[in-house]
Amino acid sequence: MNPAVADVLALEARHGSTLFEPSIVFERGEGALVYDVEGREYIDCAAGIGVASVGHGNPRLVRAIADQAARLITCPPSQGNRVRAEFVRRLCELAGPPLSRAFLSNSGSEANEAAVKWALVATGRRRLVAAHRGFAGRTLGALSLTANPAYRRPFEPLYPEVTFVPFDDASALEAAVDEQTAAVVLEPIQGEGGVHPASREYLRLARQVTRDRGALLILDEVQCGAGRTGRFLAAHGYGVEADIVTLAKGLAGGVPIGATLMSDAVAGAMPRGGHGSTFGGNPLACAAGLAVLDELRGRDLLGNAAQMGKRLMRGLRGIESSQVREVRGMGLMIGIELRQRAAPFVAGFRARGLLTVTAGPNVVRLLPPLVITTEQVDAIVSIVRQELSTAAMAEALP
Ligand code: PLP
Repeated sequence: MNPAVADVLALEARHGSTLFEPSIVFERGEGALVYDVEGREYIDCAAGIGVASVGHGNPRLVRAIADQAARLITCPPSQGNRVRAEFVRRLCELAGPPLSRAFLSNSGSEANEAAVKWALVATGRRRLVAAHRGFAGRTLGALSLTANPAYRRPFEPLYPEVTFVPFDDASALEAAVDEQTAAVVLEPIQGEGGVHPASREYLRLARQVTRDRGALLILDEVQCGAGRTGRFLAAHGYGVEADIVTLAKGLAGGVPIGATLMSDAVAGAMPRGGHGSTFGGNPLACAAGLAVLDELRGRDLLGNAAQMGKRLMRGLRGIESSQVREVRGMGLMIGIELRQRAAPFVAGFRARGLLTVTAGPNVVRLLPPLVITTEQVDAIVSIVRQELSTAAMAEALP
């Protein structure tokens, strides 16, 4: 191994707190491509797990961050700031009614924590309903909404009043929501759980049932929101208006951010001092967020996500392979469900210059930057085809 690579990996292993074992050291990126320290190029369908929405090294984003860093990096919520004001205005405009207020934080977990706290005070109720296979984050509150025992068991007891229901099962949801339910929390497209889009009927029923029983509908769009599905919110594609929507990941193109969007009625329920954040809504993150919103509009990245997503889906579905059970997703959020463990395939794709991530044990997930090009999409399909056919040949060997 190159000594420069070995040194970095040894330092990370010795002093870092990551629970992963990286084998490559990355140095820079450009658009949908990233380069390791040895100059190897990769098409980045990991994108920081769906974060690098407007591409690596995006000139507009870089300029916005540099300009804002020189002007003012921090400004607490107790003081006004023009960049923050403009960002929340544009965010709410894009999200559409009834989402007219935004609480800004620094991550998806925090955005979900805030969503739950607001739901509890807005309804005066204490029970929550969440879905099996869902993932809401790793802080204790967000973890309480995550059913997977592998994530939660070492930390139990968590927030106790959560009922888990099978995802996309209308009758189970109807049975679980009652007059004690504060909120139903769902990802329109489950990400970590294996890239499972909800059916249209299911999300609409979730809206109806919550409304009928006085509960709130919280949509966790941390992964699928901010343009990834070809709409600003995945909820727009479903024709569903939630009371609260959470965003993070791609919203500021890589600068840490979380946003909890809500209606006026929900926002007004929080008592003074009931919630807050030191770093949330800092002008640096807001300037980055504004640059992302400008890129989405100026370069029609929603249109590109929709178009490239269709092309990628068609290409991947066109691969005939005994290894593949299903290819599914929406826009540029795509999962390839395999008949075996996904990790060796992620390693195989990486060796061929394609970065992907797993989503559960047997799904390979692709979350490329929304700036991905036709040529890059075709290259992805070709790499996936080659790797799958090599794996099939290896399997066929005696
Ligand atoms: N919600 C969803 C749907 C996610 O996919 C994630 C992260 O993967 C989170 C919440 C947690 O976000 P973060 O890691 O920024 O805290």
